[in-house]
Formats: sequence, C-alpha cells, structure tokens
Amino acid sequence: MSRDGEPACPASLGEAWDWARRQIDAIDARVLLREASACSNGRWISHGETPITPGQCAQLTAWVARRKAGEPVAHILGWREFHGHRFAVTRDVLIPRPDTETLVDAGLAVLPADRPTRVLDLGTGSGCIAISIAVARPLAAVVATDASDAALGVASANAAALGAGNVRFLKGDWYAALGADPTRFDLIVSNPPYIATGDAHLTDGDLRFEPMGALSPGGDGLDALRAIIAGAPAHLTSGGWLMVEHGWDQGGAVRALLNAAGFEDLVDHHDLGGNHRVSGGRWRR
Ligand code: GLN
Repeated sequence: MSRDGEPACPASLGEAWDWARRQIDAIDARVLLREASACSNGRWISHGETPITPGQCAQLTAWVARRKAGEPVAHILGWREFHGHRFAVTRDVLIPRPDTETLVDAGLAVLPADRPTRVLDLGTGSGCIAISIAVARPLAAVVATDASDAALGVASANAAALGAGNVRFLKGDWYAALGADPTRFDLIVSNPPYIATGDAHLTDGDLRFEPMGALSPGGDGLDALRAIIAGAPAHLTSGGWLMVEHGWDQGGAVRALLNAAGFEDLVDHHDLGGNHRVSGGRWRR
C-alpha cells in the first residue's frame, strides 16, 4: 500500500482504472491508462478483470505520479491529438488545444478545396494549425512561421510524420519571416500569444510548463494581435481572409482592430466552451 492507502500496483484493468481516477482527473486517467495498457477506451469497464502486467503497472504509476506533480499529459506522452492527428509536443511549443480546432475549421470554411490556394500561419508552434489545414487542403501551399528554431524543429518533424509535404517553414517574427517575398495569401491564420501580463492563468495548470513567449506578448495581451491584424492587408489577396484566435474576453477589441484596419464581412466563432474565441474578416480591396 502507498502512503494514501491505495494499492501501489493494481492487479487488473478495473482496479487500475479505479485507482488512477482517484488520483487524477478522469479524462487524464483514461488517456494514461489506455496508453500504458495498450487497451481501447473503456475496456477496463467491460473487461475489468483483465490482468495488467507489472511493466504496464509500473508505467501507469510513474505517469500518474508525474501528472499529480502537475506535468501536462501532452508532455508525459510527448504528443497531443489535434484535429484528428497526433502532434509531437515538447516544452518548446504551446500544447495544442481543442479551442484552436475552431480556428482550423473557420479557416477551412473559407478555403476552397478544388483549386490551389496560399495559406500563411503566423507563430506555428507545434505546426498543428498549418499542418491540419495542409492535410485537409492538399492543393493549398502553406507557409508556417515561428521566431523559435526549436519550435520550427518540432513543427517540421510533425509535418514529415503526417505527410504534409505542402507546408514550408520560415523563421522570424510575424511577417518579417517572409522577408521581401511579395506573395499574397488567400488565408492568414494565427493563434498568437494573447494572455495579459499578470493574468493568474499563467501560473496555473499546464501553462506553467509552456513557453511564456507563446502564451503572453506582455502588456494587455493584444500586442501580437495588433501586429498581425495591422500587417495582414499587405499580405492578403483581394478577397483573402484573416482568422485569429484570441482570449475569451478579447472579441470586442479584436473586432475593433479588424474594423479599423479595413476588414469587411467580419465573422465570430465560438469554442467548445461557448466562448467567442476566433474572429476574422475579409480583405476586399
Ligand atoms: N488558449 C491558451 C490558454 O488560454 C493560450 C494560448 C495563446 O495565448 N495563444 O490556455
């Protein structure tokens, strides 16, 4: 028995499930048990008596201990599912979040599938947005930028692993990564850092393990969004779209920035929690 009276090493799948979900969040317990025991979701309920091997048990107990110490599940496993794909994740990149699938879907909704298009993803991190779009739109030529070499390494490995040959990676700050290339894009997407300095979330949960530069631009949290929105018209085709992710309470400010920059046909999209998470507009000039 361990200190808190739990069996240190459960003998069956059913016991392992009961044990793990008492220690950590049930959704995390489910992923870690599935990966540790190589069994499908819920099998520990229908086949609870199935024994687990000492190796599987050791794996599970080590992972549960790391999760209890706060480490994100994505770092424990080294990957996270996003938009139906498995993305490698390290401490050099933001962990892909379901909220950001809203941005991918908003981008895909305005991007034709039946002709070649050009897409730009600013601050690609793990590459989850650029690569998900590239896989869903094989005719699109996608450019993904990041200021971090380490992030570009993670993103290029993800593109190779997922067979996304239509993504090109460039290093640099926002549009500066493009240099003097005059190419215009049909769609620009970005999930930039947008958390304000001093926001309590920065010292809570998974965010403690993520790169600060990917989470917060400092100040009121809007600086990166300001730069991306102000720079977009010079890089969009006539009729091209800009779609950005932002904080749950930044929708009004982002709409105002889009309006002020001359964007039309403004759109709002909500994340799974019902928050206004993505805003976009069309460049018609
Ligand atoms: N969506 C992330 C969070 O609130 C923040 C990501 C970002 O700043 N782009 O946890």
